[in-house]
Amino acid sequence: MTTPSGFVELVGAGPGDPGLITVRGRAAVQQAEVLIYDQLVHPSLLDLVRPEAERIFAGKRAGRLVYTQDEINQLLVEKARQGKRVVRLKGGDPLVFGRGAEEAAFLRAHGIPYRIVPGVTAAVGVSGYTELPITHRAAASAVALVTGHDDPRDPKARVNWPSLAKFPGTLVVYMGVAHLKDICEVLIEHGMSPETPAAVVERGTWARQRSVAATLSSLPELVSTHRLHPPALLIVGSVVNLRPERSWFESLPLFGQRILVTRPAEDCRLASEQLETLGAEVLQAPTVEVQPLQDFQALDDILARIRSFDWLVFTSRHGVDAFLGRLMHLGHDARALGGLKLAAIGPGTADQLQRWHLRADLVPDRFLSEGLVEALSPLVLGKRVLLARANRGRTLLCDQLEAIAQVEQVAVYQNLDAAALPAGVVQAMEAGEIDWITLTSSAITERLFNLLPAHIREKVEREIKLVSISPVTTATAQKLGWTVAAEAQTYTWDGVVQAICAARLLI
Ligand code: SAH
Repeated sequence: MTTPSGFVELVGAGPGDPGLITVRGRAAVQQAEVLIYDQLVHPSLLDLVRPEAERIFAGKRAGRLVYTQDEINQLLVEKARQGKRVVRLKGGDPLVFGRGAEEAAFLRAHGIPYRIVPGVTAAVGVSGYTELPITHRAAASAVALVTGHDDPRDPKARVNWPSLAKFPGTLVVYMGVAHLKDICEVLIEHGMSPETPAAVVERGTWARQRSVAATLSSLPELVSTHRLHPPALLIVGSVVNLRPERSWFESLPLFGQRILVTRPAEDCRLASEQLETLGAEVLQAPTVEVQPLQDFQALDDILARIRSFDWLVFTSRHGVDAFLGRLMHLGHDARALGGLKLAAIGPGTADQLQRWHLRADLVPDRFLSEGLVEALSPLVLGKRVLLARANRGRTLLCDQLEAIAQVEQVAVYQNLDAAALPAGVVQAMEAGEIDWITLTSSAITERLFNLLPAHIREKVEREIKLVSISPVTTATAQKLGWTVAAEAQTYTWDGVVQAICAARLLI
């Protein structure tokens, strides 16, 4: 019996850059109960999937397909019949050399409802990110998408290469790297000029986008010298000469950098957007989680006598939201803090106060506990100070201020360890696909270290650059045996980003 609620969405993931999935495709992935995904799908799209959803990898492992096409078809039907919302996520567009039509036909034959969500196909993604326009009013009024999968000299080849040699426009050949030499020769043999401009673009729209351009006759040698590998497109036609030496994408300050961000989930998302805008490819690995308190008693007791304090000190954005959120929840508003002075550890925390229409009276010059102690000390002598903080973390602030003021501290949110790293992260590290890891606190650094298998910890030291937010975090990393490649000059997230950009300029 078919359960009516089960259905399949064939979704195009786009060519690489995870920002190139469509809005509808993204929503489908977020709602999937079963996700069956291919090789060419960016790992960070998998982070969109609900944690309880089943993920099935249907690409190649050690050069061999994990599932045959028949098995995938069966799997789609089987999961949909279990009443599941199934997403089949494919690189590029599902119907462009993606066997999406075969899957759709199989589903139709089995009475399974389905929907197709188109994606940006590689030809279009590559065109935009290399600025090699596949059509141009002056150079190409037609474009052909061609598969180069089969041997072009095979008499039974499905592609009509002799006709394509006379095609009046741009040729974009998918899966053509293995037969590149033969493809170029066959085109020349059938009348295409050996001088025709031609290019190969590897991993277009990914951080590791590379390309070489030459003429049809000289391209194969150049491609083998530069060792370009699949996934790559061969593009043939005069439009190749129109591309700039470096495209807008290749000119971004963090182009080519693959960065692992280890902040709590919500911060990770914002940080990723910022880094991606600068051209980096980001993987998110939240190592700690920020959670509401389970028991509000201690905080509520403090809030009941909040007016008895002189200073209220916040050491994170999360602390601001948790504290003020609870205050509002209990029926108060910002007037409850009317008589208090407010201190924020750094500009991010001060910004968060602004969102609640509160201005910090004090932000130290150095955005860490030591800086805060230094700045607060002359102001709080003999005063009553409340520290609003996480359930754990450094105690320096309290220890030092206690000597000169009446200090109380209260946990306003919980900082918990993530149970594990997301599935793709360790694999990406194993495959050497990470250039940088951000370390934005000592707790995060320690947690990351503990979550990594021993052989990866060593790999981090040998092959990956660590960027730290402050000298305190750097010292924690060093204690664990890691060398820090760059340290933020201002101890904020923006400082971390600037440190990576600055290190890039030195390379
Ligand atoms: N459905 C996909 C194509 C799948 S066939 C689409 O619409 O893009 C796989 C081939 O697509 C690869 O061998 C390569 O030729 C091409 N390809 C996919 N992603 C690519 C990328 N990011 N850069 C260059 N070529 C890519």
